[in-house]
Amino acid sequence: MAKMYYEKDGDAGIIKGKKVAIIGYGSQGHAHALNLKESGADVVIGLHKESKSADKARKDGFEVYEVAEAARLSDVIMMLIPDEKQREVYEQSIKDNLKEGDALAFAHGFNIHFTQINPPENVDVFMAAPKGPGHLVRRVYTEGGGVPALIAIHQDYSGKARDIAMSYAIGIGSARAGVLETTFKEETETDLFGEQAVLCGGVTELIKAGFDTLVNAGYQKEVAYFECLHELKLIVDLLYEGGFENMRYSISDTAEYGDYMIGRRIVTDETRAEMKKALTEIQNGEFARNWLMENALNRPNFNSIKRNELEHPIVEVGKELRSMMTWIKG
Ligand code: NDP
Ligand code: MG
Ligand code: MG
Repeated sequence: MAKMYYEKDGDAGIIKGKKVAIIGYGSQGHAHALNLKESGADVVIGLHKESKSADKARKDGFEVYEVAEAARLSDVIMMLIPDEKQREVYEQSIKDNLKEGDALAFAHGFNIHFTQINPPENVDVFMAAPKGPGHLVRRVYTEGGGVPALIAIHQDYSGKARDIAMSYAIGIGSARAGVLETTFKEETETDLFGEQAVLCGGVTELIKAGFDTLVNAGYQKEVAYFECLHELKLIVDLLYEGGFENMRYSISDTAEYGDYMIGRRIVTDETRAEMKKALTEIQNGEFARNWLMENALNRPNFNSIKRNELEHPIVEVGKELRSMMTWIKG
């Protein structure tokens, strides 16, 4: 089994002795910043002039600077703005404000692995990537837990990059759950694959295919929604808590028999072959190139598919049903 690291395996003190600039105050940014601050680190926020999130950061008790100033003031600079914007912000505001021995940090390896950002040799470059959405990184920390994280070292100028990365992971609470050491390449490729084939792309297409099949066969769309989307959470909770065994223990034997007989007819050899193809396109840089091109061209595909997706009947029926379930936060 891969070696997991926990709080006892690192030095929580290192990050407290550094000034940390969190660049961006969105999903990951607010979570890293608040968790680190409550863990005793000295945190400032770097944002652009027109930032909407600056008020939120100030309300949460942070000093907010423009990115260049935040980078200049700090020893550890964590890039938590959208991946597709990082190159430009790095070039314009960060590059010239890195001093010897600083650490540049990432929560995803995209820009380093695909050579969009090429830091100078005299800084450390590390990753601390929680394996969960930012809001969970924050919520679980306040509950005394943590979201597991990957750490990786791209460049170790100080000879202490790994210790700093581990201390950072302790500061955001991730070492309570477990920290796994990886490389920028492994994190980038598996993260992209996971979100494309399973977590986001795979799941939403599976839900839509199930929903469409039922609705096209004349069943009520409300029933189809509950069956194919709403119930997924209950199943995922069982998986999260105890893996396949736990989920299959909890469902009926009829459901378990159907799971064994039909699941493999849905995710077929053809699906697996397509997954392999998607992985190859990640590995050979084709996906990264397409995504960077898409952004350079103002996202023509992204925007048109996004519009179409919002017109799918599952969107409207979902809105209505959720508005009646007042305990579900929208
Ligand atoms: P968000 O989209 O939530 O980041 C938005 C923040 O970045 C806002 O504060 C926004 O300011 C700010 N921002 C946008 N453009 C600029 C700019 N040009 N200059 C300065 N600030 C800017 O990002 P995520 O948290 O989703 O992602 C951050 C990193 O974390 C990425 O590398 C991502 O891959 C990684 N990651 C994300 C996960 C997630 O849960 N979302 C999970 C694991 C890793 P405003 O809106 O106020 O203008
Ligand atoms: Mg990702
Ligand atoms: Mg059932």
